[in-house]
Amino acid sequence: INILAIESSCDETSAAVISDGKILNNIIATQSVHEKYGGVVPELASRAHQQHLIPVVHEAIASSGISKEELSAIAFTRGPGLMGSLLVGVSFAKSLAFALGIPLIDVNHMQAHILAHFIEEPKPSFPFICLTVSGGHTQLVLVKNYLEMEVIGETTDDAVGEAFDKTAKLLGLPYPGGPLIDKYAKTGNPKAFKFPVSDMPELSFSFSGIKTAVLYFLRDNLKENPDFISENLNDICASVQYTLIKMLTQKLIKAAKEHKIKEIAIAGGVSANSGLREELTQLSSKFGWKVFVPKFEYCTDNAAMIAMAAHYKYLKGEFCGLDVVPEARMKI
Ligand code: ATP
Ligand code: MG
Ligand code: FE
Repeated sequence: INILAIESSCDETSAAVISDGKILNNIIATQSVHEKYGGVVPELASRAHQQHLIPVVHEAIASSGISKEELSAIAFTRGPGLMGSLLVGVSFAKSLAFALGIPLIDVNHMQAHILAHFIEEPKPSFPFICLTVSGGHTQLVLVKNYLEMEVIGETTDDAVGEAFDKTAKLLGLPYPGGPLIDKYAKTGNPKAFKFPVSDMPELSFSFSGIKTAVLYFLRDNLKENPDFISENLNDICASVQYTLIKMLTQKLIKAAKEHKIKEIAIAGGVSANSGLREELTQLSSKFGWKVFVPKFEYCTDNAAMIAMAAHYKYLKGEFCGLDVVPEARMKI
């Protein structure tokens, strides 16, 4: 089984080829046009996808050693994501599958973030809990099987990646600021400043409060000292990151206890965060958890994870028709 997979949900154009469940490559073109706007501009994202898609697909096929004629199916991200961005990938996948006379496989991007754990060893065993933390989502997912997942908790407002990026923006850092907060936090004191930890019912999260808290905190301190940010950047980053991680792990611990599960995975762009990874190592020895963290390149948006999901759908015979449409708010 050879599948070509395409990812175009946000601002990464990516293509990958998977052969009998083994990822052969993972070509990613990142869009830089958004940097100066401090966030992804949807219209510019879809235009950039149009420019990048054909070269990226070409490279994926060429470097795989598999010819177009040997492909068994074409897979693509159906949602969730930006409608204009999704449309580019969906339309391209449809035309290619139609031209080659092979089936189409629609993939849920959030399921794929979780299935990134099956690209390489060590792989979690079912059932496990996955904390999916990305630019658009914050979810606790009970993973019962490859394609059988249940969201047991999620954010009621912003995603944690958004909280990282918005904090970075308030600090005057470029977009996406998450990785920069991570970098500066490394040499900062996480207890230097105190920010409120939201207290949400059950397994829900809330990240909109901290954004406002950081805004007022900076405004008040800048009034006294115009150089407050530059003089305290590392401590501010460490303190905000500490608070965000606390909010995540607090609910993760609760979920693990409630479901009596010790196999814990993290997925999505924020799982690249070194503070979160460290904290999970601590928790794994404290609670006897087995913790799974994907390789860095499979944390943020990539087509390899879409290919992995497509492989399992192929095995189950789950294909879609040429009349399929993208779903910006697709649920797991
Ligand atoms: P979704 O998957 O919900 O549709 P998305 O695809 O935009 O959203 P990803 O690409 O999975 O999200 O992740 C991007 C997010 O990850 C951004 O918010 C970015 O700041 C954050 N991020 C990446 N690396 C780090 C890091 N080291 N520390 C904190 N945040 C990070
Ligand atoms: Mg992205
Ligand atoms: Fe994503």
